[in-house]
Amino acid sequence: MTDYPHLLSPLPFGHVTLKNRVLMGSMHTGLEERGDWNRVAEFYAARARGGVGLMVTGGMAPNAEGGVFPGAAGLYTPADIANHRMVTDRVHDAGGLIAMQILHAGRYAYGKDCVAPSAIRSPISPFPPRELDEAGIEKQIADIATAAARAREAGYDGVEVMGSEGYLLNQFLVTHTNRRSDRWGGSPENRMRLPVEVVRRVRQAVGADFILIYRISLIDLIPDGQTWDEIATLARAIEGAGASILNSGIGWHEARVPTIATSVPRAAFVDLTARLRGEVGIPVIASNRINAPDVAEGILSAGKADMVSMARPFLADPDFVAKAAGGRAAEIAPCIACNQACLDHTFGGKLTSCLVNPRACHEVEIPSAPAPVARRVAVVGAGPAGVMAAITAAERGHAVTLFEASDRIGGQLILAAAVPGKEEFRGLLDWFATMLDRRGVDLRLSTPATVDALAGFDHVIVATGVRPRQPGIAGEDAALGYADVLSGAEVGRRVAVIGAGGIGFDVAEYLVHQGHSPTLDLALWRREWGVGDPAATRGGLAEPAPAPPAREVWLLQRKAEKPGRGLGKTTGWIHRAALAAKGVRMMGGVTYLGIGADGLHLLRDGAEEVLPVDDVVLCSGQEAVRDLARDLEAAGIAHDVIGGADVAAELDAKRAIDQAVRLAATL
Ligand code: NAP
Ligand code: SF4
Repeated sequence: MTDYPHLLSPLPFGHVTLKNRVLMGSMHTGLEERGDWNRVAEFYAARARGGVGLMVTGGMAPNAEGGVFPGAAGLYTPADIANHRMVTDRVHDAGGLIAMQILHAGRYAYGKDCVAPSAIRSPISPFPPRELDEAGIEKQIADIATAAARAREAGYDGVEVMGSEGYLLNQFLVTHTNRRSDRWGGSPENRMRLPVEVVRRVRQAVGADFILIYRISLIDLIPDGQTWDEIATLARAIEGAGASILNSGIGWHEARVPTIATSVPRAAFVDLTARLRGEVGIPVIASNRINAPDVAEGILSAGKADMVSMARPFLADPDFVAKAAGGRAAEIAPCIACNQACLDHTFGGKLTSCLVNPRACHEVEIPSAPAPVARRVAVVGAGPAGVMAAITAAERGHAVTLFEASDRIGGQLILAAAVPGKEEFRGLLDWFATMLDRRGVDLRLSTPATVDALAGFDHVIVATGVRPRQPGIAGEDAALGYADVLSGAEVGRRVAVIGAGGIGFDVAEYLVHQGHSPTLDLALWRREWGVGDPAATRGGLAEPAPAPPAREVWLLQRKAEKPGRGLGKTTGWIHRAALAAKGVRMMGGVTYLGIGADGLHLLRDGAEEVLPVDDVVLCSGQEAVRDLARDLEAAGIAHDVIGGADVAAELDAKRAIDQAVRLAATL
């Protein structure tokens, strides 16, 4: 008997039966644009082998003007079909099903040829779009239908028409972006004409025996967005036009409400999918911040959806479904929704991967083959680098001993897990513990490694991590360290945080919440961010009503630039907005003069001032801990140094884990 009877039950619809209720949602990998279709095929084949019911590819442009950026992958020409055929063949050989997403970016296309219902520039693009005329609209419809027909020719099992997230079809639906007065704008019936016509023509182009998913925006989260009545009317019309299944889309890319970041509560938007289910006869798919089989099972067993979409969790673990089905759910590498190696890479023009699983999109480059010779490997330090080196080496057949001086594994991640909005890190720590155990790693806690103890191993990996940097400010002995604060030290009501890097932001977040995390309280989170109900207000926006901050906080840095510039590309704005909502004063360009009984003395804009704070918290970066590495060198014992012990500057778990896995893959 499985723990996930609903999740693992087949879903029959139309001409096909899916083997379970799990959809791998669309993700942009960046592999297609590099033209390495063998790697694209292997990426999807690995997930097909892992047992997922149906996969959707990253968004494929139907024409050049609709591409997310110039040169974005698509299915524009018959010549593209052979590349896509490699993918579909490999997926089918692995027993999977795959649909191609057709994404027309409209005014979100990052290029001068972008088109839209009206010539209104998006706040997230410098390019003003050209307003489509009647012939231009017909061209877009025809190109989308042609791309769908080509997808069928290329062997796909279906297509997903992207109608949400603020892309072209969504742009036609709302007056925010559609100011037309012809038959494509004005009344709700006119605004929804394009998406409905697209679905009708796609169905005509692909025939009856082909999956047609429509991704519908259930809450736009922008001013002048759709009402629930409009969304429900559209859903019924899309069903009537021939869609076989509706997937949930949440929020436009330009929305100022986070929708998938780690601080968003799990399954935060699923009640909207449940409401949609009452409006249509075809199956509906829930999406956004669903990353564990029990969460997915809960949604399905409560009747809130017919299927669950997870995207990033399949970067973290291609075998998500197989492990859930095989009674090994605790072994599923958790997606912590950090965006650090997936969306931050995508928007930075880099190849997508995963912080937890650096093999994602690098399946060909970092194979997981057994080691040719099993060796005795010692790893020192059980932070993310050490743990992942130990797990990876043990997976390959080595006998691994992991030394940790403290009584817990996790290193700096233990501190991250204490920050409100970063609760997902707890799941990663649990997974580390499970995998060390299941892979038979000999874990020695409270055991500092000595040169003598390491002498008998075939290979030594030093992952001794970092220690906080003392900034050298007069009176700093009276200050608190960030580790003390995040470990529960008493802190006063007025606090200055020195250092506005990732940890400074985390500490400020911790201080203003005083232990009550909106991420674990959906109603509170909705009030904090102003998430309402599209049945009550257009776009589902409400006036944000953040709870008063627990403390008065100043967040400081010496650099003159805006604090937080170095945070993640797709999440930095969330951290800045969250702290601004709590009245945190973020200041750059300060010079620290000293810490006194009356507070923190500093120089700003040429003038001296005293911040009247009760406490000062040091978040001024880290230095590498290399004492053991130096001793090993002196003793002539060969070793590798990884993680923060290697380079402390700008260290994060992504770099630490990537370095660890790549090294252990070569042992
Ligand atoms: P960091 O990002 O390097 O920030 C250190 C801060 O300390 C900077 O604001 C720096 O600003 C200041 N600083 C450096 N030397 C100083 C000195 N001598 N005196 C006073 N201030 C000094 O380091 P971190 O915040 O400790 O974070 C460590 C790593 O973890 C980073 O790579 C970070 O990306 C990662 N992390 C990421 C997240 C995330 O959300 N993605 C969260 C936590 C940590 P000035 O030099 O301008 O004063
Ligand atoms: Fe999830 Fe972070 Fe991996 Fe992206 S990088 S898939 S958000 S764990």
